Amino acid sequence: MTWWSLLCGVIAVAFLIVGFGMLIRAGVQIYRHVRLGRPDPHRAGPVGARLKTMLKESLGHTRMLKWGIVGAAHWFVMIGFGALFLTLVEATGETFSPSFEIPWLGNQAWYGLFVEFIALTTVLGILTLIVIRQRQHPRNVGLKSRFAGSNFVQAYFVELVILGIGLCIFGIRGFKAANGLLPYPTWAAPISTWLGSWLPAWLWAISVIALIKVIISMVWAIVVARNLSMGVAWHRFLAFFNIYFKREDSGRTALGALKPMLSNGEVLDLDEADPEKDTFGAGRVEDFSWKGWLDFSTCTECGRCQSQCPAWNTAKPLSPKLLVLALRDHSFAKAPYLRAGGGVDPATGEEKMSEADLAAYAHADPLGMLEAQRPLIGGPEIDDQGRNVGGIIDPEVLWDCTTCGACVEQCPVDIEHVDHIVDMRRYQVMIESEFPSELGGLFRNLENKGNPWGQNNKDRMEWAKDLPFEVPVITDTIERDHEYLFWVGCAGAFDDRGKKTTRAVAELMHMAAVGFAVLGTNETCTGDPARRAGNEFLFQMLAQATVETINDAFGERTSRKIVVTCPHCFNTLSNEYGDLGGNYEVIHHTQLLNRLVRDRRLIVRKPVDRAARQDVTYHDPCYLGRHNKVYTPPRELIEASGVTLTEMPRNSARALCCGAGGARMWMEEKIGKRINLERTDEALDTGADKILTGCPFCKVMLTDGLTARQGAPAEGAGGRDIADVEVLDVAQMLLAGVKGER
Ligand code: SF4
Ligand code: SF4
Repeated sequence: MTWWSLLCGVIAVAFLIVGFGMLIRAGVQIYRHVRLGRPDPHRAGPVGARLKTMLKESLGHTRMLKWGIVGAAHWFVMIGFGALFLTLVEATGETFSPSFEIPWLGNQAWYGLFVEFIALTTVLGILTLIVIRQRQHPRNVGLKSRFAGSNFVQAYFVELVILGIGLCIFGIRGFKAANGLLPYPTWAAPISTWLGSWLPAWLWAISVIALIKVIISMVWAIVVARNLSMGVAWHRFLAFFNIYFKREDSGRTALGALKPMLSNGEVLDLDEADPEKDTFGAGRVEDFSWKGWLDFSTCTECGRCQSQCPAWNTAKPLSPKLLVLALRDHSFAKAPYLRAGGGVDPATGEEKMSEADLAAYAHADPLGMLEAQRPLIGGPEIDDQGRNVGGIIDPEVLWDCTTCGACVEQCPVDIEHVDHIVDMRRYQVMIESEFPSELGGLFRNLENKGNPWGQNNKDRMEWAKDLPFEVPVITDTIERDHEYLFWVGCAGAFDDRGKKTTRAVAELMHMAAVGFAVLGTNETCTGDPARRAGNEFLFQMLAQATVETINDAFGERTSRKIVVTCPHCFNTLSNEYGDLGGNYEVIHHTQLLNRLVRDRRLIVRKPVDRAARQDVTYHDPCYLGRHNKVYTPPRELIEASGVTLTEMPRNSARALCCGAGGARMWMEEKIGKRINLERTDEALDTGADKILTGCPFCKVMLTDGLTARQGAPAEGAGGRDIADVEVLDVAQMLLAGVKGER
């Protein structure tokens, strides 16, 4: 050992002690931070299933690989982070002695090849990610960039660290080769051997580069430890936990059913709930569960959610990424105050700290105090020092969400945006009575009339008028030969466009001799819009009444099949009523019709002339597709109908929402381009004559979009004549095919 290698070694050890020490301390701080959230005790098990999902999603990169080359590049970088840890141990030894190698392992040819390969793929992977970040930089693509609003300095730092470490590995190995110290055959270290043939035999360079490698690694550790909210770095550790503790132990994303309202870790029984003791949604950041706090801390700022969000894509202020980042920054800023014993006592609504303690805290941490006093929801408010002392989340942002689930579907670390957004809406509606004025009418209509439009329930069977057969209405219990309860839904009963779908489905079932009956005037709204708008009281009221009605209708029958045309009803009936004693086998009409076509109980008369085939496109309803993963049956049905399907660029799991979900159907859209217009333009750009869908709400939104474009054709459809384009439900197209009316 020479004096310079001893010096290098001592410096390296000093960095390692400080770096690892700070990192371990920071890990404990994050743990304490996350525990500030409310209890949520049902996320730990079953351990086996959760571990499997975690390993599949992280090591298999199942979510990330959907993003093609980015996913592959990220996989190599992630593997490199773990697999190259031993090169840090080696580098530490090499600072003391240039010929150091890990005993036994260090001179194995396979190990040499392994490190060579992983180091190379790490360098190539990070270079790919660097290029992608630059190509998608907001300066090139503006707000379309998924990185718009992300912290670039932190991202550049992480990228340079990884690149630097990868290059140092080759530098060390290259100089080792030049000095004849590389213990591997050429095939096991081809790049390093080649580098060595060019480099001078400077022994000291091995220790110096090894020291640089250690310093880079430990500077990373120190910076990360000093920045607990640096998700771009911390997700390397936290993502594993976030995926493990995801809402669904089956491994599904947090879509479909909404998370029930929890208070103290248990589902809140609204009949027993006490506003002085219980938590009603999230009115402050500390009202989110610990999983919420873990979500906020884990966000990598990758912006995949943002890139898919219909609100953000139509120039509205909501970005799921920015929403999560705002909650993250606020949670970290407020945490010291909460740890000091601060917060609002739910029983009294008063501050928990004594006046003296509060004054002392405010004196010691004035900025933290300022942050702690900011409301969770509210518009911006700038104080005389230019600081925003207004809300963390703007009300416009909160109410822009259509609950389409595109963010949840794409998030690589399983953040549960929709549940968090609805939790905030719940508090605003049930405790603050603060919501867009249009929702007041919706809530009143649902409460008084049992449907969102405030129509008379006696008109619920209007859709069946003039049908060439009698539609059986259940008066007591469903009859034996009625296999299905046909749930019509409010849109299917009251909206003229929805009624056409209902009639088509009824006709098709009748033609295929499927026994069905309806509830007629006994049907009411399932409560979906109330729940997504945050009015859990109203949802529970409607849902309990509906479950009772349906259970009565089925009586003692064990086979409880329901067919629905509305994906929102489909979702609520199949995924949310189980908690209230309503367990049914629910099927969407596209699934049933597809089955009937396959079984040849419905025969489509296809056009003989292929040139006469109509061009159609299909819009995936969010609550059928993303929330319930029904993508194939409607497409198979379309294919079977003898038409030519052209997909829109955003389809299936990445389909763009029509803008109606999350009770947005009943709210004004005041900012940016209307979402339904954006989607209609995309549909028209396919050149389709017919825009098909499988949801009455999507049908309304797309029809409105089409009407707007037909009034101003120059603005959409690339100037082609769109006068004859129409929006249809898949069932209507099938009916025409079966009747040979095309
Ligand atoms: S659910 Fe849809 S609209 Fe809401 S934040 Fe996510 S992507 Fe945006
Ligand atoms: S997709 Fe997930 S990790 Fe990426 S920015 Fe959005 S919330 Fe964060």
